Amino acid sequence: METISRAAVLKQFATDFSIDKVKVMATQKEVLVKVTASGICGRDLVIWKGGFRNLSTPLILGHENYGEMEGKPVGVLGNISCGQCEYCRKGEPNLCEKATLLGEGRMGGYADVIAVPRINVFNLPDREYKKYAAAVCPVATAIHASKLANVKQGSRVLVTGAGGGVGIHTLQLLRRSGAEVIAQTSEEKAKIVQRWADKVITSEQFAREAKGVDAVIELVGAPTLNESIRAVSKKGVVVVVGNVTGEPLTITRPALLVMRELEIIGSASYTPAEVLTAVNMIHEGTVEPVYREYSLEDINSAYRDLREKRVIGRAILVH
Ligand SMILES: [Zn+2]
Repeated sequence: METISRAAVLKQFATDFSIDKVKVMATQKEVLVKVTASGICGRDLVIWKGGFRNLSTPLILGHENYGEMEGKPVGVLGNISCGQCEYCRKGEPNLCEKATLLGEGRMGGYADVIAVPRINVFNLPDREYKKYAAAVCPVATAIHASKLANVKQGSRVLVTGAGGGVGIHTLQLLRRSGAEVIAQTSEEKAKIVQRWADKVITSEQFAREAKGVDAVIELVGAPTLNESIRAVSKKGVVVVVGNVTGEPLTITRPALLVMRELEIIGSASYTPAEVLTAVNMIHEGTVEPVYREYSLEDINSAYRDLREKRVIGRAILVH
């Protein structure tokens, strides 16, 4: 099967996307999915800047895709795993040795039609594509990270970068798990973020106010990591989910790690099971998707607003 689709193509890193017509071809094990809404992930912004050295342009990004297949509402798992390696066999395809991500090793969903392996397509319980494009990737990310952070009823958990797409949905998930949630965000976003947190700390207050937490969900990376380490109490854990600037992570006070027996651990996206859990939570309304929508043609405005940190929650593209 083959068709022509409109797509937003990144021809050179750190420049505007151009809207072009591209050829989309599906092999025998693949299907064509009509994309109605797609999310712009924090990861996409790092790629846009040229932060992933293994990638080269031109690129059609987008691994958070929702729309229709043969008229039915569907979502697409962005991670194309091998199904055979040690990790895939253990149900951890997020750690697959040969994984390809939509939008990176192959064409992603900043396009009206994409070709994907049939096995990656799952049914949606309703047709509200925008809310899934906004919240599935963030909620699934939060589910995975909070397991690694060992979040329990009554845990004190700090979330850095809490006003962004992953942040705002992570706050909601942690609250549902009965954690006491402390949100770190910018002055501008603090008022809105307040709704989902027990306490909000602005970047300026971070060094003074954040302390004694059991875990940190670190969504910012290099700029906040050392304050996060300082905020954790003995035997606590810092779960690193993102590193938005792409800079090296440097530990300025290693003695804290040693004296407090702290753990720093990475969180690699999420599993298909966690995606389905996220879909259900969104469908049932236990998590409220927070987003701002842009049309696909207006993708460059979306990226500008994201770079200038003017978007609360997720930015999504409506096709
Ligand atoms: Zn994502």
